[in-house]
Amino acid sequence: MTRTALVTGAARGIGAAIARRLASDGHAVAVLDLDAGSCADTVAQITDAGGRAIAVGADVADADAVDRAVAQVVAELGAPTVLVNNAGIIRDNLLFKMSVEDWDAVLSVHLRGAFLVTRAVQAHMVDAGWGRIVTLSSTSALGNRGQANYAAAKAGMQGFTKTLALELGRYGVTANAIAPGFIQTDMTRATAERIGVPFDDFVAAATREIPVGRAGTPDDIAAAASFFCREEAGFVSGQVLYVAGGPRA
Ligand code: NAP
Repeated sequence: MTRTALVTGAARGIGAAIARRLASDGHAVAVLDLDAGSCADTVAQITDAGGRAIAVGADVADADAVDRAVAQVVAELGAPTVLVNNAGIIRDNLLFKMSVEDWDAVLSVHLRGAFLVTRAVQAHMVDAGWGRIVTLSSTSALGNRGQANYAAAKAGMQGFTKTLALELGRYGVTANAIAPGFIQTDMTRATAERIGVPFDDFVAAATREIPVGRAGTPDDIAAAASFFCREEAGFVSGQVLYVAGGPRA
């Protein structure tokens, strides 16, 4: 059955791969990112492949912008009943050097953002008696040096997911989290730059620690998201799936 899906942070990286995958699964996809213009490539990839997609510009941490964005999706694509909370940023630093601004920025995009978008979308899922919510956590939720802000946000998103599962289950809505390990995207490229290591060396070092012997790709995460969003996954809720090439980071 065709549903309307909303994927945040979908201009590039993991979000773009999830948007393309949900479109190929048959859903109409709202590709949301900070700037609608930056979503053009993802939208074109979907429409060129015969799918349906629109670009939506919004900061997920801005409550009014989120409400406007969801209203735009309802008007242009239909009420969203699939949501992927993927938008994210990193502002890494060791705790003693971490600024209040960097703490607030990371908590705001990940946690406040997931809260605002989910709150705005859930009414449409409850009305439909069906919904799928997938939220991006991370292996960093288990703790990661230099990422006190990000680890706290990603652990928080697991508690958020389990609570959504408890509150919304009776309306046919499932909520699950994906916790990726090392995935090759602009985000991991930025980390390599910050610590002054060439990206290829950074990937090679990460790969040595990964049991399956390779780095992850955005499509690895999109495959997991696709599963959680299927009709037949309706008995899977409140789970955290580590997609990390092994049992942990
Ligand atoms: P990415 O390449 O940096 O993409 C993140 C996207 O989110 C960007 O398009 C970014 O827009 C957008 N975004 C940032 N702040 C936003 C806001 N306030 N409102 C709307 N959109 C916003 O990152 P990624 O590697 O694909 O990561 C995607 C998700 O997976 C994140 O939640 C991340 O924490 C998680 N994750 C990634 C990894 C990894 O190894 N890459 C591992 C574990 C978890 P701009 O380009 O305009 O900034």
